Amino acid sequence: MSLAFLSSVIIAVAAVILVLLERRFPYDKGQKIFREGFFNDFVLYTLVQSYVMGLVIAWIIERIDSSTDISRLHLVSSWPLWVQMLVFFVVHDFYIYWFHRAQHHSKYLWRIHEAHHATKDVDWLSGSRSHALEILINQTVEFAPIALLGARPEVAIFKGTIDAVWGMYIHSNIDVRSGKLQWFFNGPEMHRWHHAIEITEGGINFATKLAIWDYLFGTAVRPAQKPRGYGLSDVDFPTNYLRQLVFAFRRFSGVTAGAVAPPGPPLGGMPEEPSS
Ligand SMILES: [Zn+2]
Ligand SMILES: [Zn+2]
Repeated sequence: MSLAFLSSVIIAVAAVILVLLERRFPYDKGQKIFREGFFNDFVLYTLVQSYVMGLVIAWIIERIDSSTDISRLHLVSSWPLWVQMLVFFVVHDFYIYWFHRAQHHSKYLWRIHEAHHATKDVDWLSGSRSHALEILINQTVEFAPIALLGARPEVAIFKGTIDAVWGMYIHSNIDVRSGKLQWFFNGPEMHRWHHAIEITEGGINFATKLAIWDYLFGTAVRPAQKPRGYGLSDVDFPTNYLRQLVFAFRRFSGVTAGAVAPPGPPLGGMPEEPSS
């Protein structure tokens, strides 16, 4: 069995397990599996867009390499596999924290992140909804160094698998309270709040995998109660995939970055969950 095939099997099995756990331990009760946007998110974003963007990103990286020959220097090839994994994992996670935070503060970058926040039901599938341009930027930044610095090919496959499984986990509708582990291993407990409709511009909980960045840089919020809902309250986001793609390029009308919600309870007034 090839590693790439094994990766697909692991991702599919993880998806089934998460869906079963969502049924057994729901964070928000009554959320349906086949909720609004299921076809879009599963078929168009997860299968079609990921495949097409994978080809585009591989082509870009190949072009960079053929014009610079940088991968022939094998800059990290002699490092043990686990060191390569650890370095690329931590460095990319640090990058994605800051890029994600910038997306919530820049009205231009917010445009390619809006699709991700438009879903009204946050579940195992919601993480797949990302604008093609957001995927292009983030995955090129993620995979170009792996290829260009001469990392082992397994690093890209392992990393892609971890991204997919962890991405499904942090969005899953599972009532997980992971205590002190949550400081390091991000989960639905914090990321569902990142999608909360009551979060106004600026945002909270930007981490994807390592929640430690939110604790280090002062953006961690972990309320004891659950959000009122999810999604965008300032725009009427289209339901059609192609319209969602072009919606990012509409004219600006003075709206600033972030999901602008009607006044809700101030986050500072929310009781924090005990940290153990
Ligand atoms: Zn966000
Ligand atoms: Zn998310």
